[in-house]
Amino acid sequence: MALGHNGNLVNATELREQLAGDGVKLVTTSDTEVIAALIANDPAPLDEAFTNAIARLEGAFSVTALAEGKLIGFRDPHGFRPLVLGRLDGDWVLASETCALDLVGAELEREVGLGELVVIDDDGCRAEQAVPQANGGALCMFEFFYLARPDTRLAGVEVHGARVRMGERLAEEAPVEADLVLPIPDSGTPAAIGFARATGIDFSEGLIKNRYVGRTFIQPDQGLREQGVKLKFNPLAEVKGKRVVAVDDSIVRGNTTRQIVAMLFEAGAAEVHVRISSPPIVSQCYYGIDFAEEDELIAAKRTVEEVREYIGATSLAYLSLEGLQASTRRPESSFCRACLTRDYPTAVPRESTKLRFETTRT
Ligand code: SF4
Repeated sequence: MALGHNGNLVNATELREQLAGDGVKLVTTSDTEVIAALIANDPAPLDEAFTNAIARLEGAFSVTALAEGKLIGFRDPHGFRPLVLGRLDGDWVLASETCALDLVGAELEREVGLGELVVIDDDGCRAEQAVPQANGGALCMFEFFYLARPDTRLAGVEVHGARVRMGERLAEEAPVEADLVLPIPDSGTPAAIGFARATGIDFSEGLIKNRYVGRTFIQPDQGLREQGVKLKFNPLAEVKGKRVVAVDDSIVRGNTTRQIVAMLFEAGAAEVHVRISSPPIVSQCYYGIDFAEEDELIAAKRTVEEVREYIGATSLAYLSLEGLQASTRRPESSFCRACLTRDYPTAVPRESTKLRFETTRT
C-alpha cells in the first residue's frame, strides 16, 4: 500500500498504544504510519479496512492511497484539509488542491465530502459516507489566508480573490496615510493589492524575494531562520524617503517581520506601517500546521502595541476576525479558526494538554 496524508491526528498516541498492544511494530514517529498500520493489519476486505480505520481516527486527515489496484481517498468528518476529485480524459484523479488538477489538465468533479470514502477501481468511482460529518465542518482558516495556493478554490471560493478582499477590508478597518503599499512576498501580495486598491496608494514590489529559499517559519532553529530572512528579501531603492505600508498575511514568531521592518528602515523608509490580513495567531495548531508552540507565538501573550514595539514598526494593525470571515464569503460555522480564537473543534492531544497544565503551574 502507498499512502499520503495531509493533516495531523490528535489521537495518534492512543492508537500507537493500541497497535503496540496488538503486537504491531511501528518504525517511525509519523502519524501517517499509524493510519497505514491500522489498515494493513485489519483482516477485513480492503474497503472495510479503510472504513474501520476512518472510524478510529481523530483530528485532521485528508488521505490518498493506492492498494490492490485501487485508488482510494478519504477526508475526516471536519474537513480540516481540502481534498478534491477530478476527471482526466475519462479517468479519475484525487488531489489536495484544485490547482493541482489545473496543472495536469484535469476537470474538477467535486470536493470529497466530510467523512466520505471514495474508492476508484476498474468498476469506476464509488463513494460512501464512512463516518457522519461533524456539524458544518471545520475547514482550516489558515489555508485561506496563507497556506493554499492563490489559484486554488477552497469550498468553491478562489483563494486569491478572498485574499484581495482581506486587503480591502483591512484598508477599511486600519487606513493610514502613506506613499507606497508593498507586499511581504509572496503570500502578502494579494492582500497588498487589495489594500492599495481600496486606499488608492501606489502599489510597489518594494521587497524582492529570492525564489530559491524555502519558507522561513518552519526552519527549525532561530539562527537559520534569521539567516534565511536576509537571504530571502532585498528592498528596492524606491522605498527611500517614503512612508510605506508593508502588508503580510500573518505574524507567527515576529522575528521575520522585525527583520523586514529593520531592512526597510535601513533602506531609507521614512515610516513603516505593518498591516496583517489575519487576526493575531494566539494558539498552536494540532491539525497539521506546525508553526510554533504557544509560548513562541509573538501575539499569544502580548497586546498589539507590544507586538508593534517588538517588530519596530511605526504602526501595526491586524484584520478583525469578522473581516477575515466576511472575506471568505463562507459561513463561520464551516471553519476551524482555533489558532486565532483558542476554540478547538476537537479534543486536543493528550500530551499537549499535559504540557499545558505543567506550564500553567510553573
Ligand atoms: S488551528 Fe489554525 S492552522 Fe490549525 S487547522 Fe485550525 S485554523 Fe488551521
